Amino acid sequence: MSRYTGAVCKLCRREGKKLFLKGERCYTGKCSVERRSYAPGQHGQSRKKTSEYGLQLRAKQQARRFYGIQEGQFHKYFLMAERKSGVTGENLLRICESRLDNVVYLLGWANSRAEARQLVQHGHYRVNGRKVDIPSYLLKAGDAVSIKERSLESEKFKAVLDANAARPVPAWLERDDSIGKVINLPERDQIEAPVEEHLIVEFYSK
Ligand code: SF4
Repeated sequence: MSRYTGAVCKLCRREGKKLFLKGERCYTGKCSVERRSYAPGQHGQSRKKTSEYGLQLRAKQQARRFYGIQEGQFHKYFLMAERKSGVTGENLLRICESRLDNVVYLLGWANSRAEARQLVQHGHYRVNGRKVDIPSYLLKAGDAVSIKERSLESEKFKAVLDANAARPVPAWLERDDSIGKVINLPERDQIEAPVEEHLIVEFYSK
């Protein structure tokens, strides 16, 4: 299945909530969800009762879209989460949070998760001193992520860092200039994904 390349704000409007896919704009009055809080399309404003299955499907789509993960990969994460001890839904979100592209975004080294994915693919980051260009690379507690020295010299890259320097870093991560560290993997209350993960578990458990 190919990656969605259409207008990302439509995805938020379809889900009826902010998924924060556009960086800075999401926090301003220009956000499409704030301006038009109904689904896109001809029937977007008609009221529909959502079935139980529909709610579960929407929860799964919201999480996938929030993190920018393809269906097949997301299902693999669910199977991984099921094999781990603990609460499956929380395990699933923890796996999504530990992706390199997500961590790069949370460290303030990209304007959005989509941009983080692109910058990772272009080889701008190192993990424990080695170049990693795989956005889905899963980080562990203790891993160090850094920005390549040459990338730091690029004006475009400097602008991204400046624009996000004031963005707070979650407590499970640490940022010291161009070096970031995973202190531990996040607890549920440290994860900002606006989803009800138990509905995703119900969706895949049918
Ligand atoms: Fe667009 Fe961001 Fe608002 Fe979503 S949250 S509609 S991506 S501006």
